[in-house]
Amino acid sequence: MYEGRSVLVAGARVAGAACATALAGLGAEVTVVDRAASAETERLAAAGIKVIIGEPDPGQLLSGVDHLVVSPGFPPHHPLARAAAAAGIEVYSEPELAWRLRGPGAPRWLAVTGTNGKTTTVTMLASMLAAAGLRTAALGNIGMPLVDAQGGGPGGYEVLAVELSSFQLHWSSTLAPEGGALLNLADDHLDWHGGFDHYAGAKTAVWRSAHTGGTAVGNLDDPRVRALLEGLHAARVPGRLIGFTLDVPPPGCVGVVEDVLVDRTGDGDAHELATLADIRPVGAHNVANALAAAALALSAGVSHDAIRRGLAGYVPEPHRNATVATVGGVRWVDDSKATNPHAAAASLTSYERIVWVAGGQLKGVDIDELTARIAPRLTGAVLLGVDRAEVAQALARHAPHLPVVDVARTDDGAMAEVVAAAARLAEPGDTVLLAPAAASLDMFPSYARRGDAFAEAVRALPTPAA
Ligand code: ADP
Repeated sequence: MYEGRSVLVAGARVAGAACATALAGLGAEVTVVDRAASAETERLAAAGIKVIIGEPDPGQLLSGVDHLVVSPGFPPHHPLARAAAAAGIEVYSEPELAWRLRGPGAPRWLAVTGTNGKTTTVTMLASMLAAAGLRTAALGNIGMPLVDAQGGGPGGYEVLAVELSSFQLHWSSTLAPEGGALLNLADDHLDWHGGFDHYAGAKTAVWRSAHTGGTAVGNLDDPRVRALLEGLHAARVPGRLIGFTLDVPPPGCVGVVEDVLVDRTGDGDAHELATLADIRPVGAHNVANALAAAALALSAGVSHDAIRRGLAGYVPEPHRNATVATVGGVRWVDDSKATNPHAAAASLTSYERIVWVAGGQLKGVDIDELTARIAPRLTGAVLLGVDRAEVAQALARHAPHLPVVDVARTDDGAMAEVVAAAARLAEPGDTVLLAPAAASLDMFPSYARRGDAFAEAVRALPTPAA
């Protein structure tokens, strides 16, 4: 299918490089373009693949090109994407290419999307699938590139728990995992998609297989997701629809009865899947993630017992509501992965008496509603990052008497200053919570490095005298 075809791969990070290598292996004429040189671009060039560094004119780049594979750094309004669309060139993401490259015996796909909770849910799902004795991995944002995991045969994966972002789904016109879960829909990345409706539209691509007999899993507690799921029901799609809720579930759904996670998808009776005490990290949103993962596992035929063992043996990912230390009665929590207000709300409503460490790149998202909602829980705030003034203004509106420290510096020592300021504000019994509600890229290479910097600064705090 790709032999002799001309393919341009735009963006040469790990996934882009894997696409280029796979396509070259299939006999395509591959050109890779990236703004900057990297270890990946050097490796590709050494392997004989044509590499262009810089941002040349799109028309020139696309001349003679049959397919364009883009990394998430290319929004629909990017000149290259626009030029490709205008020229009728097919544009797709790495997962879409992986889907098209599935060979005989390729693994089955169960996919998860949503504004928040994707990584947690796919890793929970992989834990359940592994407990059922299946060869599996959680891939997408983490682990090996999807294109490298599509071989079948002995040693290959049988089923994948695939995380899909709205960016990737936007550029995926045929991908149709046999089961897909939509966790939640909140404002995020609106500048990338050009508005909420486009963002929501991209996310529902995860349910494509419901139109051909697959399974669509959706959050009944999220009004926007629920409405979309009801839309599928009204359209009488042939697939199976499974709702999940933190409440008592209706027949056909999964949910919670007292402190037990239950399955009502079978005969309508409530069968125990796990108890609330089995769910880590703590917090209602992680119960929702566990239910979504369980619904996908059930759709793939996994037993209740394997789901329970998968949850009991689940090791949480770092930087997601992780307690770093308790010093002098003050708990320090790293939720650096809270890169938007919806994610930050999940952890900010899991604690009382909070010194909130917030700020970074807000990406055009409004912080006011979150600030109003959590203001009564705050005992102080420390602000950092490029958009901290917006957080400061929201706090001034909703918590005018709150002590707020503004950290203007952005160098390597900034986080130590943030932590020192938080230590001065916090009283025993308080939780200092890094839940920035914003991306980290103005100050750090990644949210992980932001969380690590926080944890290091906390560990360097002087231990109070007994
Ligand atoms: P994603 O992969 O979608 O970014 P993660 O599982 O990495 O999601 O979690 C990202 C952040 O969102 C974390 O800060 C976590 O506390 C929060 N979070 C996790 N699950 C949910 C959920 N279901 N609803 C809201 N926030 C969530």
